[in-house]
Amino acid sequence: MIIVLFGKPGAGKGTQAPLIAQALGVPTLATGDVLRGALRAGTPLGLEAKGYMDRGELVPDRVILGIVGEELRTPAYAKGVILDGAVRTVAQAEGLAAMLVGLGRSVDAVLALDVDTEEVVRRMSTRTVCEKCQTPYTALPAGSVCPKCGGAVVRRKDDEPDAVRNRLRVFDEQTTPVLAWYRNHGTKVEVVDAVGDVSDVTKRVLRAIGH
Ligand SMILES: [Zn+2]
Repeated sequence: MIIVLFGKPGAGKGTQAPLIAQALGVPTLATGDVLRGALRAGTPLGLEAKGYMDRGELVPDRVILGIVGEELRTPAYAKGVILDGAVRTVAQAEGLAAMLVGLGRSVDAVLALDVDTEEVVRRMSTRTVCEKCQTPYTALPAGSVCPKCGGAVVRRKDDEPDAVRNRLRVFDEQTTPVLAWYRNHGTKVEVVDAVGDVSDVTKRVLRAIGH
């Protein structure tokens, strides 16, 4: 079972990915991790990727997908995998499909963890940080005095409502065409509401993919 996982910023993808993987008995594969692994191991594709990075260029999809493909050939992924961060554009979806054909496999489902924008704005709005000692807080409103050092407690710029709304809008603009591409190619796309208890969301996800 090969699942491509999408998570809206604030949807808890980092929390859910290992729980879903555990329930399905398959590993997760984060593109960033395998790329770093190939760089460390100095594989031919790893060295090619390093060349691009050393020149300050983006590593092309062909190289990234090659590295992901080499990893997927190993026995650890025989039962399946949850791909995290492998597909951000339609070109990458096409490249992944072509690479998997070479392995005699295909994407079984695309899973998108969804959250309501205003819910994320609400969640982020309770996060504050001490300007001076950088201690994060969730229940201390901006404008408070840091109990640890007496510094000013502020909201991170990234967590300001407009910044959060903008981040989510950019994510939607990027992923909508990718999800449409999968639907048009007959792949099951499940958009799962990721608001609520961690375990409830995991159950919802597993139900959506028929487990
Ligand atoms: Zn402080």
